[in-house]
Amino acid sequence: MSGSPRRKPVSLQRSAPPQTPLPPLVIVRDSPLHGLGVFAARRIAGGARIIEYLGEHVSHEEADRRYRHKDALDNHTFLFIVDARTVIDAGVDGNEARFVNHSCAPNCVSVTENRRVFIDALRTIEPGEELTYDYLIQRESDDPPDIDAIFACRCGVERCRGTLLWPPRRAAPRGRRARRR
Ligand SMILES: [Zn+2]
Repeated sequence: MSGSPRRKPVSLQRSAPPQTPLPPLVIVRDSPLHGLGVFAARRIAGGARIIEYLGEHVSHEEADRRYRHKDALDNHTFLFIVDARTVIDAGVDGNEARFVNHSCAPNCVSVTENRRVFIDALRTIEPGEELTYDYLIQRESDDPPDIDAIFACRCGVERCRGTLLWPPRRAAPRGRRARRR
C-alpha cells in the first residue's frame, strides 16, 4: 500500500461548504426592561466573555463636565465608573455593551481588568434571552434626596431591590434612629 496520502479530487474541494462567519453573539433590540437591550443571538456558555464595554476613557472631572446638564439617569446610562480615576464614556466610540440593561437577578457580571471592562456570562444564556448585569451604582454623599426614585429599578424579578443603587438603602444617620412611619 502506498504511504502517501491521497489527494482529494478537485471537485470535492470545490463542493466544500464556503466558510461562513458565525452569526453575531448578541443583537440589540427593544427591551421590555428599558429602552434598547442586548439579547443573546446564540447560546452563550456560563463564564464566557461576551463583550467589552467600549468607549472613551476619561477622568471623573471630564465626565462631570460633559454630562452635568443631563439628568442623572442619562448621566449614568452610558458612563461606566472603572475606578477613582477613570470613567468609560460609551457615548464616544461605544459599542453594543452600553445597551446591556440592569437586573437585580442578572445573568451576566461586569469584570474590570487593567482598566478595561468586560461583560461575562454568569450562567448559560439561551438564544433570545436578554443580557443583564447588576449596575451596583455606588451612593455618593452629595446624592439628592430623590436619588432612589431617579434610579428606580423595574427589572421585575421577585427579589428586585427597587433601585440600581448599592447598597440598597442609605445608611441611617449616625446617632439618630431612622424615622419610621
Ligand atoms: Zn430590580
